[in-house]
Amino acid sequence: MGENGESEPETLTGFDADEVFALVGNETRAAIVHALGEAGGRDVARATLSFSELRKRVGGDVRSSQFNYHLQQLVGSFVEHVDDGYRLHRVGMRLYRTIVAGTFTQRELLDPFEVGVDCYFCGSAVEAAYEDAQFMVQCPDCGHAYIRMLMPPSAVDTDDDAELLARVDQFNRRDLLAYGRGVCTICAHPLDTQLIPAADAPMAGSAELDVFVHRPCDHCGAQPHVTLGLALLYDPDVVSFFRERGLDVTSTPVWELEFAMTDRYTTVRSTDPWEVALELTRDGDTLELVVDGDLNVAERNLPE
Ligand SMILES: [Zn+2]
Ligand SMILES: [Zn+2]
Repeated sequence: MGENGESEPETLTGFDADEVFALVGNETRAAIVHALGEAGGRDVARATLSFSELRKRVGGDVRSSQFNYHLQQLVGSFVEHVDDGYRLHRVGMRLYRTIVAGTFTQRELLDPFEVGVDCYFCGSAVEAAYEDAQFMVQCPDCGHAYIRMLMPPSAVDTDDDAELLARVDQFNRRDLLAYGRGVCTICAHPLDTQLIPAADAPMAGSAELDVFVHRPCDHCGAQPHVTLGLALLYDPDVVSFFRERGLDVTSTPVWELEFAMTDRYTTVRSTDPWEVALELTRDGDTLELVVDGDLNVAERNLPE
């Protein structure tokens, strides 16, 4: 749900990509979206500005007729014409927030720092780093990448490493949860499900694993790959098994969960058809989930 209790589209739906780029590729039109977005605040998300006020805020030396031409190009897509002026459409608001987050405009650097976990493969201290809009949790020695995700640069502008790590982990879980349940977080379309030998996965770090859950999106082309442990992280039995034994897997950073970062608790029983077991242990108890090639849990062996 968005502000004011209204539901808000999560993506720029209803336009094709060429249209979106053409509309905001012009300097004046981008400035209009920015000025309308900036006029909002904590109380009123989408402020309304009169034509003259909007033109004043956009500034520059664009003639009134030219300004009006560009404004009208946006009306009906990112901008709404209302009784007392102009305001962003919800989709325009989403665009404004993306611009403010700075995904495409800034490249901040964060000095790598240790996350408090030893590499599961070589024992070196695992580090967090940010570069080129990507947040990474990785081993500086063996190079194994535990987490890589796109994140707006503005999000890492903090001196509080612990707070940043907790926030990054939860931000990442939004995707993990949806991927685990087969929904694309970019376009909300259903995801395909394929189990693939890790050696066939295109990313760094696949050598240390046995299997990946690959969930390609036919609509937008997203290609998420997750470990079996991450794909099953929000399975109700997994959550309650650990919860009953003193570990909250919904708030413990995923890089601290060995079963999610390695395949040491994963056994590939068959690849044709796929049958893979995840055997979790804690306090001498065991929970075993066996999945098929569609990631359905075909067998659950709960502790006694
Ligand atoms: Zn390592
Ligand atoms: Zn998609």
